[in-house]
Amino acid sequence: MVDEVSELSSTTTAPTVLRRLSARDRWVAILEKYVAGRSRPANDRYWMPEFETAPRAEIEELQREKLVALLPYLYEHSAFYHAKLSAAKLRPADIKSLKDLVKIPITTKQDMGRSVAAHPPWGSYSPLSEADWRQRGWYVFTTSGTTAAPRPVRMTHLDRRAWSLTAARTNYAQGVRASDVALTCTTYNPHVFFWGTHLGMEVLGGKLIPGGVPTQRRALFIEMFKPTVLVATPSYTLHLAEAMREQGLDPRRSSVKKLLCAGEPASGIPATRRRIEETWDAELHDFYGCTELAQAGWAHTCAEGVKLDVVSDHLPEDLGIWETVDPDTMEPVPYGERGLTVLTSLASEGSPQLRFLVGDFTVIDHERCVCGRTLARARGGCVGRADDMLTVRGLNLFPSALEEIIRGFEELADEFQIVLERRGALDELIVIAETRVTGTEDSERLARLIAEEVHRQCELRPQVKLVDPGTLPKTEFKAHRVFDRRTA
Ligand SMILES: [Zn+2]
Repeated sequence: MVDEVSELSSTTTAPTVLRRLSARDRWVAILEKYVAGRSRPANDRYWMPEFETAPRAEIEELQREKLVALLPYLYEHSAFYHAKLSAAKLRPADIKSLKDLVKIPITTKQDMGRSVAAHPPWGSYSPLSEADWRQRGWYVFTTSGTTAAPRPVRMTHLDRRAWSLTAARTNYAQGVRASDVALTCTTYNPHVFFWGTHLGMEVLGGKLIPGGVPTQRRALFIEMFKPTVLVATPSYTLHLAEAMREQGLDPRRSSVKKLLCAGEPASGIPATRRRIEETWDAELHDFYGCTELAQAGWAHTCAEGVKLDVVSDHLPEDLGIWETVDPDTMEPVPYGERGLTVLTSLASEGSPQLRFLVGDFTVIDHERCVCGRTLARARGGCVGRADDMLTVRGLNLFPSALEEIIRGFEELADEFQIVLERRGALDELIVIAETRVTGTEDSERLARLIAEEVHRQCELRPQVKLVDPGTLPKTEFKAHRVFDRRTA
């Protein structure tokens, strides 16, 4: 399907030309328009106020325009989405408004995994041909996880430019400025959070120190180079702080003023947020997203919002359409009610997705934030993927709920594990936690208090085992805390 270029007047800065544009050209023109002229912040508060503070109706009209242009692009160039739309008896012209979005079936990680298995190595979801990839490709990110084959997510150089700007605007909203110096605690693996922050800092004009390995070296870098921003997983910030103390350094008196975190829920778990902020005497910021939709921008905190008791994450709605759905029926729930997140990406050439089930339980809030942004927010942050939810003795249990309780006990150190075993017909929940000091007096009493608190909040009585500091493996990247041995 091709359309007259005159329809493009609102989405391109190019002079009107009397030729017909392909679906691909139309979509690329939209992405090019986003990257044009936005390499500096508009003012001292907002990088892109035209989106970040836009009235709701304007945001929705922008989403509609982009969605209507995305459909033909995917229908013509992605065999995966062509088949998905055809199976639902849909053609691109059937999607005219945001209300029509629900007609499109939801896409899951499993759908994408099957596509990769049937069409290795890329799957058939990306609209890039082999020739496009050779000419325009930039990077392949792969999804993490140990059970499924990695799903490749390809990005083009245009995606890189757009993503860099989005990341810069996000860091800017979190209060990061060109004068800041960021230490990144990564080995530059395919984790999109670190790459996004790196790209954003480059656009922002900030300084970067790749921390390298091991942890002791990163601790030394903090002392030597005085970074103001630490980029790490939440668990790792605690591990690094401990390593500093072992070297006689005090993280609270360090140069670090902001902690940019992702990879695990952080500010959505109040006790974890308190523990991290108090450990560093610094402001904790969150990003929350997924590899498949990195260019659509991540849910993120803002500098003013993290001062509130309940922290919420902004959703960059000019770059994607967020929905929440019922976990059983997959039908949309009204805004303001809890559901699983579904995201349609409106910001990628190499990897746009339609109605992708990200799968965090979230409440979407449309109220203007204290920072003045009108973009919707995930109220209370994101506290866990539905995939992470455990069913124990018929009850649903999020590891984040246990984390909130464990972190609330000052006597406990930072490492803990949640173990599930089968005893006869019953599930056994075991919490193993490190104490701050060796041979804590009255440890039986402490274990009992923890068990009672878990029982009070989660209706499950765990067995609590307290172990000496240094017993459990240290978190070097993302924490691995849940060990479900019931089917072993
Ligand atoms: Zn805000």
